[in-house]
Amino acid sequence: MIFEPQKYAIPDESGKPFIDPAEIRTLLAANGEPSVAETERVLARSAELHRLTLAETAVLLRARTPELRQMIFEAAGELKRRVYGERIVIFAPLYVGNRCTNNCAYCGFRASNREAVRVTLAPEQLRAEVETLESQGQRRLILVWGEHPDYSPRAIADAVRQVYSVRGAGRINRVNINAAPLDTEGFRVVREAGIGTYQIFQETYDPERYAEVHPSGRKRDFDWRLTALDRAMEAGVDDVGLGALVGLGDWRYEAMALVRHANHLEACFGVGPHTISFPRIRSASGLASGAFREVDDEDFALLIAVLRLAVPYTGLILTAREPQQLRDRLIGLGVSQIDAGTRLEIGGYSSSFGAGVAVGGRQDLHREQFELMDTRSLSESVSTLIDAGQIPSFCTACYRKGRTGEHFMEFSTRGFIKRFCTPNALLTLAEYLEDYAPAELRSRGWRLIDSKLTSIDEGLRREVSSALELIRAGEREMLL
Ligand code: SAM
Ligand code: SF4
Repeated sequence: MIFEPQKYAIPDESGKPFIDPAEIRTLLAANGEPSVAETERVLARSAELHRLTLAETAVLLRARTPELRQMIFEAAGELKRRVYGERIVIFAPLYVGNRCTNNCAYCGFRASNREAVRVTLAPEQLRAEVETLESQGQRRLILVWGEHPDYSPRAIADAVRQVYSVRGAGRINRVNINAAPLDTEGFRVVREAGIGTYQIFQETYDPERYAEVHPSGRKRDFDWRLTALDRAMEAGVDDVGLGALVGLGDWRYEAMALVRHANHLEACFGVGPHTISFPRIRSASGLASGAFREVDDEDFALLIAVLRLAVPYTGLILTAREPQQLRDRLIGLGVSQIDAGTRLEIGGYSSSFGAGVAVGGRQDLHREQFELMDTRSLSESVSTLIDAGQIPSFCTACYRKGRTGEHFMEFSTRGFIKRFCTPNALLTLAEYLEDYAPAELRSRGWRLIDSKLTSIDEGLRREVSSALELIRAGEREMLL
């Protein structure tokens, strides 16, 4: 891995924030459309697994012609296959509570929205949700909360511990959280509960736009949010996830700022973010249609491809905010994690309302944060991935074996993926197929496993094949 910390400004000593809007805007404005030669030069740097500088990232983001964009898409797809292999890690969001004291203009949970139905799961309801998710075969969850005094670090830590303790028709091995920024002590409390990733989105890295869409509440403080991941890392949280809500500001600007934020963390802590997310704004309760600017699919695809190329070792998350067919295409550009079987209604996985989709197949947006575009079940999503030759992975081995943070960055090289990620993806898929998949999907899944086994080096293949035999015979939790 090539790591060039000296290239990235380490903030604070000068009091200058690490996101400098003027710098980003200047780089994006420079020189118009890049030439083919200039684009090729940047793609070559990325192919050697260098992180891209902001100036290089700007070159790719300025590409507008279909020909240039096609070059970028192909390079991103190739890098994804090399670095992450053909595996897609699967998780599910679990909304625990939607009380909120903020007024984010885009969110159905905002305090001023009187139509929102407020729910916080009681421990027995949380248990029921987790049992349902386990019975579907989920292994990795992200718990989500609004920002409210009820959701203290202690309450968050208790919920995390409870989720780990539930043993129904399976087990949750990794609990990530998406919750409001905490102080360093608060992050220590939640870290001690054994969280996987702490994820938080800056929403927009443009301070002026940020002020417009966050009119009141604690979240109005741009800097408190921007420095949340620094505090999390100072408190010893190894894996952090950053993101921007796409559609609030200029998407090119947000892409640049995400790269800067990733580089900042790496410069300060020796390890970059575990994941980057780029949710696009969807309809929400009380949100006028057209209230936010649409980012079209082609621009959105370029944003993902450029992030893949700029930060090759960071996971990219694509959520069910995107419709099925688009998701299937975007996965090839560098996405490494997706949510599947997602339901947003609080209590919706286990409730009798039909898993969050009310009668008539439509969501009740007053009970949910935003409109979902991909409402497939977990097994349907797994089935589509298998048909596309991707390995759905339920792997949580790195977290369970202590390979997080610095170690994860250190290991997430091509050799590491080959040695651990692909085999563990196959083993966890096999367990899923045996325990949770319908019969027809099971046989298709095993055919995929057999075909992917051939790409593994011989010695390792023998090891994986015998683990697969044990899984067929009923052994579980076979991880390398
Ligand atoms: N309350 C916490 C916070 O604000 O950080 C948790 C966040 S919220 C439950 C998870 C994320 O959903 C937000 O950070 C935002 O990016 C995204 N989100 C909010 N409204 C949305 C909408 N209408 N469409 C798509 N994503 C949305
Ligand atoms: Fe509250 Fe988070 Fe929604 Fe903002 S995005 S209103 S903080 S739940």
